[in-house]
Amino acid sequence: MELETPSAEQQLNDIKHNLAMINQKIAEACTRAGRDPSTVRLLPVTKTVPAERLRIAYAAGCHEMGENKVQEAREKSEALSDLDIKWCVIGHLQTNKVKYIARFAHEFQALDSLKVAAELDKRLQAAGRGMDVYVQVNSSGEASKFGLPPEEVENFVKQLPNYSALQIKGLMTLAIFSPHLDRVRECFVRMRNLQERLRQSMPAGLSFDELSMGMSGDFELAIEEGATVVRVGQAIFGKRPLPDSHYWPGFG
Ligand SMILES: *Cc1c(COP(=O)(O)O)cnc(C)c1O
Repeated sequence: MELETPSAEQQLNDIKHNLAMINQKIAEACTRAGRDPSTVRLLPVTKTVPAERLRIAYAAGCHEMGENKVQEAREKSEALSDLDIKWCVIGHLQTNKVKYIARFAHEFQALDSLKVAAELDKRLQAAGRGMDVYVQVNSSGEASKFGLPPEEVENFVKQLPNYSALQIKGLMTLAIFSPHLDRVRECFVRMRNLQERLRQSMPAGLSFDELSMGMSGDFELAIEEGATVVRVGQAIFGKRPLPDSHYWPGFG
């Protein structure tokens, strides 16, 4: 039996309701951690959500959208170019795709190689613009995850002032996918400790104020451990039709 597609009005109400629930949980996690909720940014993750539904999300208040695949992000940014959306690329990037994101993205959260940094800087300089960038860290040690091992981050970021179009904002990670919350929390604690170390040893001009960590299943934990950006998809838009292993090769 085919499920009927909900009306646009129903979709708008659903998304607004989900956003309100998430903001409530963010506020509660902040209270537990003694933090001000205005220090946490909710980045809606829109991968696999069709452009027409994103128009409704925009009307519900989503003016930033996180995508993990360049091609999909590019197509949506073109289809929705009449809206004032800030596109954030949150997935691993191959060097040959860098030229595309230099055109439409406002932020790139998955930097983990100097080759990509150099190419992105070159493309941005040519376009006369800058971009906010996060360094992706593999906080779980799983081979399937992208990102730098924590112990390599310090040397890596020392090279970044060479690329003046990249505005380095902080660190990004995906925690381990595990039902054991203590193991998930360990990943977030590792990130907070790394951020602390970087703050003490960084060259002038670099700051690491932002920590992008936490998704639908673990954003409250991430906030308790210091997340300033939470990337939330399914809790806003509903379950994706295929398991995560489809979208993240090697996962699941
Ligand atoms: C899909 C994705 C998310 C959001 O995951 P949800 O389970 O939908 O909240 C966060 N970060 C990255 C890098 C993603 O690819």
